[in-house]
Amino acid sequence: MNAQEKLDRGLLRVDEAECKGCGLCIEACPPKVIGLSEGLNHYGYRTAVYAGRGCTGCGICFLACPEPGALTVYRAVLKRPVAVDRTLGGQSAGGGMACASN
Ligand code: SF4
Ligand code: SF4
Repeated sequence: MNAQEKLDRGLLRVDEAECKGCGLCIEACPPKVIGLSEGLNHYGYRTAVYAGRGCTGCGICFLACPEPGALTVYRAVLKRPVAVDRTLGGQSAGGGMACASN
């Protein structure tokens, strides 16, 4: 795993309709990959915006956010290769994303 892959273990989605722009997630994020939007949402708040790269999937922003449903953190789940069981039609190795949301 190279350095960039290590930094892209997570993904952040912001629901602009739920965000109140308090900035707690921005302060809490260790790699500082969250900023504030230039535009306003329908409540007149500048909302949190994910930079698009660098999320580690730590979930700290999710825990810091006081607004239920404003943030969803996806965390990459790397699965170890598994042996193929031909009697059951075989299985393959793969990965996926886990999700934390309010
Ligand atoms: S999950 Fe962690 S790294 Fe990703 S945006 Fe939230 S605080 Fe930052
Ligand atoms: S902590 Fe929640 S409400 Fe505050 S800016 Fe971040 S997403 Fe918006």
